[in-house]
Amino acid sequence: MELNFDLLISGCNTRCRHCYVNGGPGRNMPLRDAILCIEKLDELTAALPYNASMTLDNEPMNHPQIAEIIRAASETKHIVNFHHGMTSGIALMNRKDRTEVMKAYLDCGCDEFGITLHGSAEHHDFIVRREGARSASLQAARFMRSCGARINVSLMLNRFFDEDAEEIDGILNGLQPDYIFFAIPNYTPHANMPEFESCRATMGTLLALRPRLEGWQQDTDELFERAESGTVRAVIDRLENGLKLKELFAAPQEELYLCVHQDRRLYVGNTGVETLLLGDLQSLNIAETAAFIDGLPGNRDYGAFYDIGILPDEAELIRALKRLPGDLLFSDEASVICRGLANLGAPTKILKL
Ligand code: SF4
Repeated sequence: MELNFDLLISGCNTRCRHCYVNGGPGRNMPLRDAILCIEKLDELTAALPYNASMTLDNEPMNHPQIAEIIRAASETKHIVNFHHGMTSGIALMNRKDRTEVMKAYLDCGCDEFGITLHGSAEHHDFIVRREGARSASLQAARFMRSCGARINVSLMLNRFFDEDAEEIDGILNGLQPDYIFFAIPNYTPHANMPEFESCRATMGTLLALRPRLEGWQQDTDELFERAESGTVRAVIDRLENGLKLKELFAAPQEELYLCVHQDRRLYVGNTGVETLLLGDLQSLNIAETAAFIDGLPGNRDYGAFYDIGILPDEAELIRALKRLPGDLLFSDEASVICRGLANLGAPTKILKL
């Protein structure tokens, strides 16, 4: 089993429609609590027989004392600080001390940063629900590179990509990112997700982009192979050919996500899909908590967030999926199934926070 701790340091500057991790504005974790949580998560990891990584989220660059927090995170003995580096860029560009902040990251070995691109300024700002957001992302990318960082771009597919493709080409040519990801948005039982659905791309969108994908650093055949397994039609086919929902959801998983909120509380589940509150890291008994975590099943897949015993049967799910366009495109099979379950109003185990 691999453990992943999501430590919420600060809120976000955007309110993205596709956000499945409860982004959006939020408070900063006090510095002393952030240091304490990092130490406690390190102790917890030492008491567990698993490898663990920790991500500082959601937009740590909003934190006034981010330099101290990054240093503490990079000095843990047992836990690996996984710096995912994705940023909207707004927090960084709003800071007068942005050069010092970048130096702190680079000094701690965090030298790779990523921005997400949703297409034209109009479509990008609509999807992240903040005017001027695309412009800030591009400015931040240029600034971070001028400080010596490597820059990645995540192209997050939406139904506007076909009409915005030429503009995307222009941005990528100007920025020359070190790496380009191509992300097909997922779907989880999170309350935010329906907000993105009117922007979701279809297989038709991807087909129209095919001639550009190589120029966007993608392996076209591999991308299409992956995409074809994530259409509504493909999952209906699998269900009609014997895919069993309960077996799928009960299959063992190798990753366990936990998260820590700004109030130091540790939960089972990734941010936004918390299923159990374990308690305040300041007072939790680390040995007992480690023993409890050691007995938990993985929860990487969305199946972990539904009560398997009360899932609808396959026929009911197929009927719900048939109400969606067959070539609607999701990141994977689990996302398609969650989308169908949402249509059916299937109950989840997610805590209402
Ligand atoms: S997707 Fe990322 S940047 Fe957007 S609101 Fe969520 S956590 Fe924040």
